[in-house]
Amino acid sequence: MVEEELLTCWQGSSYREFVKFQDKSFVQCLSSPWGGGEAGGGNMHELSIAMNIIEIAEENARREGASFISEIELEIGALSGVVLEALEFAMESAVKGTMLEKAEVKIDKIPAKAKCVECGKIFNTDDLYTPCPECSNPFSDIIQGKELKVKSLKAE
Ligand SMILES: [Zn+2]
Repeated sequence: MVEEELLTCWQGSSYREFVKFQDKSFVQCLSSPWGGGEAGGGNMHELSIAMNIIEIAEENARREGASFISEIELEIGALSGVVLEALEFAMESAVKGTMLEKAEVKIDKIPAKAKCVECGKIFNTDDLYTPCPECSNPFSDIIQGKELKVKSLKAE
């Protein structure tokens, strides 16, 4: 049984810009060539993400000498630009013939939070445009909800 922590982040300018291996944690950053934040751009986006997730998982499982992956856990932020249903659908078809064919795919949804640039109020939001509930300032920084991570992996 191998359990490995993987992290991916959705920032930067190239698709697989940053790969780092430290002890047992594997950090890999991804960025969206589609800009992110927009839902409903068709299934190609989610299919590419699904294939990249599988690639990351297989690389790690192989490194550990595992022959199949029994469970994969993902963290998907509400503002990651990923349509969950489309990703689930894409994963179902993309895992065929891979080490993840029988893997249980767990998806943790991360709600979005914004911080007002004016008064510093932190509030829940579903988009990038909600004004601050405290001072009505329209500008805020997203501090949570852009996650797109492979959180953990169980391989055997
Ligand atoms: Zn405010």
